[in-house]
Amino acid sequence: MPLLMDRSVLILGGTAEGRTLATALAESGPPAFRVISSLAGRTREPLRPPGEVRIGGFGGVDGLVHYLRAERIDVLVDATHPFAERISAHAAAASAATGLPLLVVRRPGWTERPGDDWRRVPSLAAAAALLPRLGRRVFLTTGRQGLAAFAGTDECWFLARSVEPPGPPLPRHLEVLLDRGPFTVDGELRLLRDHRIDVLVSKDSGGADGKLAAARERRIPVVLIDRPPPPPAATTVDSVEAALARLTAVR
Ligand code: NAP
Repeated sequence: MPLLMDRSVLILGGTAEGRTLATALAESGPPAFRVISSLAGRTREPLRPPGEVRIGGFGGVDGLVHYLRAERIDVLVDATHPFAERISAHAAAASAATGLPLLVVRRPGWTERPGDDWRRVPSLAAAAALLPRLGRRVFLTTGRQGLAAFAGTDECWFLARSVEPPGPPLPRHLEVLLDRGPFTVDGELRLLRDHRIDVLVSKDSGGADGKLAAARERRIPVVLIDRPPPPPAATTVDSVEAALARLTAVR
């Protein structure tokens, strides 16, 4: 097949979905896709998907528009984390400015199951305000950038898990666990037991997750932070399979 038939896809990633989609597209064809994955550069040793990888911000909507034009991108895929609100808004604005199709891949949020004791809150600040009434030994899985919201919650002790070390402001009583998922239910159960955790805080990220199953089993309350609103007016799918079907259908 002539190279001229290749279509260039820019995947805004930093998620398992972004990597899986890049892998599937890189292996699909003919005609082949030119796949570029974009990562924000938050972690020092990111998991690199196959294909081309670029790292770092674009410099706002204008920078993204410039990049899309310079690299002759045909399709923009937003496979970023459901809580990465800014880059998703930029992707929507850049798609509107260039007329390029935008496909959003968003895994579904979690739904409560029998045995769960969840409190849904709209923000990290609301989670921090609620915590002292629920427990004193908190497992915090909201990522290092969210720790500042808990800096004034002195009544609680926190075990915070993140890929990279967090920076100030930090909670006064804090232990940091540097680790990267996926995590098993057994491992999470051990962690809850060893640290005598009595409440879990998580974003409603969706996807496979051992910590929620472990909290259910140990009857520990969970404070779940609601997702921000999805990006406006884009074609949205809830799985990599559906994204792949869309992309290969228009090839
Ligand atoms: P954000 O607040 O939505 O974005 C902040 C800025 O970071 C953007 O304006 C953009 O800079 C840059 N950026 C973000 N994602 C990018 C990407 N994939 N490629 C190039 N630049 C990107 O993002 P965030 O919440 O800090 O998340 C950063 C990355 O981590 C995302 O890619 C996301 O998928 C991943 N992640 C986030 C979370 C979370 O809880 N937020 C969890 C797991 C993984 P410019 O304006 O300069 O272009």
